[in-house]
Amino acid sequence: MNPWMIGAPSTLAAGLAGITAYGAAYPRAQLFGPTICRTRTAKHLALTFDDGPNPAITPQLLDLFAKHNIRATFFLVGKFVRECPGLVKEISSRGHLLGNHTDTHPNLFFCGTQETKDQLVRCQEAIHRVTWAAPRWFRPPFGFRSPWLIEIAQRHGMRTAMWTRIPGDWRVKPAEWLIERLKPVTETAQAEIPKAAKGAATTGQVICLHDGDYTHQNGDRQHTVNALAYWLPRWSDLGLEFVTMDEAL
Ligand SMILES: [Zn+2]
Repeated sequence: MNPWMIGAPSTLAAGLAGITAYGAAYPRAQLFGPTICRTRTAKHLALTFDDGPNPAITPQLLDLFAKHNIRATFFLVGKFVRECPGLVKEISSRGHLLGNHTDTHPNLFFCGTQETKDQLVRCQEAIHRVTWAAPRWFRPPFGFRSPWLIEIAQRHGMRTAMWTRIPGDWRVKPAEWLIERLKPVTETAQAEIPKAAKGAATTGQVICLHDGDYTHQNGDRQHTVNALAYWLPRWSDLGLEFVTMDEAL
């Protein structure tokens, strides 16, 4: 039971439930506090990865990004950080930004204030132990927020990152499926970059992808690597520049 709903009369609760669902789950909702879900110009694309580090997949992404001179943001799960400190160090030393994705990936909508704080702090400590730096960005598992989450993240020095697009690559599918699901990124860029070039105010996309599987280590995300290998050179040709969440602001 979510503690803040206890005691609400049933009719009020029904109305509140709708608003709550929106504030908790809609990626661009700001009801429960400010989140960042866009970059500041159509030319800037922020690639973000959740649920790693994953020894089976993350090194492949790092090599792919090195080949295309791309920097991305990785939202790490604390329990995996403790299992693969060397890989975490490598992500950071190769110029990518590390973010906090909780310690064990619970749905924070159902977590009270203390549990929420513990989840954020334990992940923060795991990353700090490896890199000597604490992440400045946080992404809630499943995108679910509670009324106190964003303030707790702020109190621990983190902004909350959501997304413009989430193509659903946590499903194990052929790369062709994901390539198709990423087509709207291209279409939006084609429509918006010319406007930005003429001086119009535009915003750019934050894409939420997955290099890991929060339920177990070495999850199959090969389709994500392969679909990006297809799109990255094409997106560069369109004039897209790849930014981390720090640079997205
Ligand atoms: Zn996740």
